[in-house]
Amino acid sequence: MDDRLFRDAMGKFATGVTVISTKVDERVHGMTANAFMSVSLNPKLVTISVATHAKMHSLLKQSGKYAVNFLTEDQKPLSMLFAGQMKDEPFEVDFDELGGTPVIPDSLAVVACDIVEAYDVGDHTLFVGAVTDIQVNEGEPLLFHAGKYSRKHEFA
Ligand code: FAD
Ligand code: NAD
Repeated sequence: MDDRLFRDAMGKFATGVTVISTKVDERVHGMTANAFMSVSLNPKLVTISVATHAKMHSLLKQSGKYAVNFLTEDQKPLSMLFAGQMKDEPFEVDFDELGGTPVIPDSLAVVACDIVEAYDVGDHTLFVGAVTDIQVNEGEPLLFHAGKYSRKHEFA
């Protein structure tokens, strides 16, 4: 089956946008991700799917922790930065900390986790996180659909 057909079909599923963040030896790394899922309430578990070739993959194996930062509609530049789409205009990000894990200030919500399971599936790994800390803020979400960003009112 054609890769483009698969991507086009998956792109029809509208999502929010997150940045996964972690820290190894005081070096903070972020990666844009929309393959995020809330998994279980009792215990509180979430999952992210990370490509095995991503830098983030080996860093998660080392740190054993990550935070999922849900982006607001004003944080599209952060999504582009952490997807490697701002190579000509990179900028610094001042991370905060939540329970020892780096997090992006002013995110819509942040979920900090300890990795409790890692399942290798095809060319990705599902990192299941047990939630250790949560932060919730006001704002509207950044949306992603058919390879394009949008805001909630643009869908209405
Ligand atoms: P790199 O590509 O090396 O780093 C990512 C970028 O972040 C680089 O430009 C780097 O300079 C910058 N960066 C990292 N840390 C910092 C820092 N501390 N300060 C400033 N800049 C920093 N891939 C998946 O595996 N799973 C997904 O669910 C997924 N969803 C995506 C959803 C969207 C909407 C998009 C656009 C992309 C998605 N990707 C996903 C692709 C993924 O974001 C890119 O392939 C990304 O480049 C992989 O990052 P990396 O860890 O390999 O590191
Ligand atoms: P796109 O049109 O290739 O992606 C549309 C949808 O296809 C995505 O939302 C995702 O659901 C799926 N998809 C894309 N690449 C995938 C992959 N390697 N593995 C599993 N699912 C994948 O491209 P875009 O929306 O313009 O994204 C920009 C870049 O980010 C591309 O290089 C894309 O491969 C990457 N991306 C990767 C993932 C992922 O690894 N899960 C998710 C989204 C985007």
